[in-house]
Amino acid sequence: MIEVHGLEKSFAEQRVLRGVDFTATAGTATAVLGPSGSGKTTLLRSLNVLEAPDAGTVRIGDARLNFADPPAGKAAYRRAVKALRARSGMVFQSHHLFPHKTVLQNLLEGPVHVQGRDREEATEDARALLAQVGLAGREDAYPSQLSGGQQQRVGIARALALRPEVLLLDEPTSALDPELVGEVLDVVRDLAEQGWTLVIVTHEVRFARDVADQVLFLDGGRVAERGGAEVLTDPREERTRRFLSRVL
Ligand code: ATP
Repeated sequence: MIEVHGLEKSFAEQRVLRGVDFTATAGTATAVLGPSGSGKTTLLRSLNVLEAPDAGTVRIGDARLNFADPPAGKAAYRRAVKALRARSGMVFQSHHLFPHKTVLQNLLEGPVHVQGRDREEATEDARALLAQVGLAGREDAYPSQLSGGQQQRVGIARALALRPEVLLLDEPTSALDPELVGEVLDVVRDLAEQGWTLVIVTHEVRFARDVADQVLFLDGGRVAERGGAEVLTDPREERTRRFLSRVL
């Protein structure tokens, strides 16, 4: 599970996160929506400390970091960051695959070289994950031989290969041609149905409405509205309503 409390982040004078709180229980999918610049990506990147928040706490499973009062000393801080990262997998807008490695090698890089897992076991895992994202038989392909949607699905499998407790997805379809969006969303939908814990920043309102157990609507660095799919079908807040009337 994820617990976020009082998260604050500024870039120079600009306050981008202004006290974000939310909890996501294990096995649920949380969709984060909101206008451009509302802090969605910054929130997601704060969860695994790709951005270091100025204040607030992040807890993922049994790893917890209080940014207002971090562990003393660089080594202790680094350990705490590492513990959060070990529990979260990240999928970016573009896949960031290693271009000179095959699909299978891309999936093995983290488990074998970073986590030190047994190669054979990790290979078996990787093959199962590739099948899960609809890419069985493409183990030996190079990223450039795959479509954008396939590359993004490899990106998802690669994040899962690290066996994270939560999968963080930052607008995973926004860099794709429209005809490729559906195949990636279908994979994410499958993961949600299988009980993966997901936090997904997305502009795909219909998808969020169908798949999310929890919806966070961010506005100006705050959670303006939070709830189930009704946030997107019958919002309480005027700001949410205005946003939806623009995007739907
Ligand atoms: P979008 O939907 O357009 O992706 P977002 O809601 O994800 O937007 P963020 O990407 O979190 O918003 O950005 C929030 C604000 O913080 C923006 O004004 C952005 O310019 C600023 N920002 C984000 N990252 C940085 C950075 N590394 N340095 C300076 N400013 C940043």
